[in-house]
Amino acid sequence: MNHKSGAILVLSGPSGAGKSSLLKEVIKDIGACYFSISTTTRPIRVGEEDGVHYHFVDEAEFKKDIEQDLFLEYAVVHGNYYGTSIKPVKEALKEGKLVIFDIDVQGNATIINRLGDITTSVFISPPTLSELKKRLEARQTDSQEVIDRRIDMAKREMQRVSEYDFLIVNDNLQEAAEVLRVIAKAARVKIPANEINDFVRSWEDIEQ
Ligand code: ADP
Ligand code: 5GP
Repeated sequence: MNHKSGAILVLSGPSGAGKSSLLKEVIKDIGACYFSISTTTRPIRVGEEDGVHYHFVDEAEFKKDIEQDLFLEYAVVHGNYYGTSIKPVKEALKEGKLVIFDIDVQGNATIINRLGDITTSVFISPPTLSELKKRLEARQTDSQEVIDRRIDMAKREMQRVSEYDFLIVNDNLQEAAEVLRVIAKAARVKIPANEINDFVRSWEDIEQ
């Protein structure tokens, strides 16, 4: 069956769970996709680039975008604003692409609410809390204070795993990547309710 429009794949999980690492592993294997670049007010980290990892803006600019209703969803995470702009997502969906979001549990709830029909959601978890601590420290991108806040947040986020379609425990990176590949391919062929009747009708026509 050929879908007329694209689909959405949400990736959530504690900061340091391995979302970016996993995505980097699978992105070349899962067909036409668009990775949604969020807008944030958090300070840029060493190694990050504006317009590549995020659109970095100040709070006044972010609030202006909220007022103009430019976000599909937004949330405050770890004390900073993060949001997904509607326009590029709409365009990518129209082109039939798999749109990938790396967003938090609040963002996932909004997306399920607004576009649940075409969305597959995956929660990525580190194997244990102590392994998460180790990874965040080894990544060397955040101060100890920020790491402690992220660990606290991780404990709260883990309580909401049941809101997701799939859970991937990122212990061995290659094994976790293989599971994500399978889920991403399946996300593309999830049937939106409004297409089911069209498909059945056209399928019956072919049989006659
Ligand atoms: P996220 O995007 O979820 O914040 P990252 O992909 O940045 O997480 O991963 C956090 C750190 O953990 C990085 O330094 C990354 O290299 C490391 N990492 C990711 N997955 C694994 C894994 N399966 N085993 C060991 N280290 C990992
Ligand atoms: P980080 O600062 O580590 O890049 O991201 C912190 C958290 O913000 C992660 O849980 C990430 O998934 C989430 N996040 C990133 N972009 C967005 C977004 O546009 N919307 C929401 N709701 N969360 C986001």
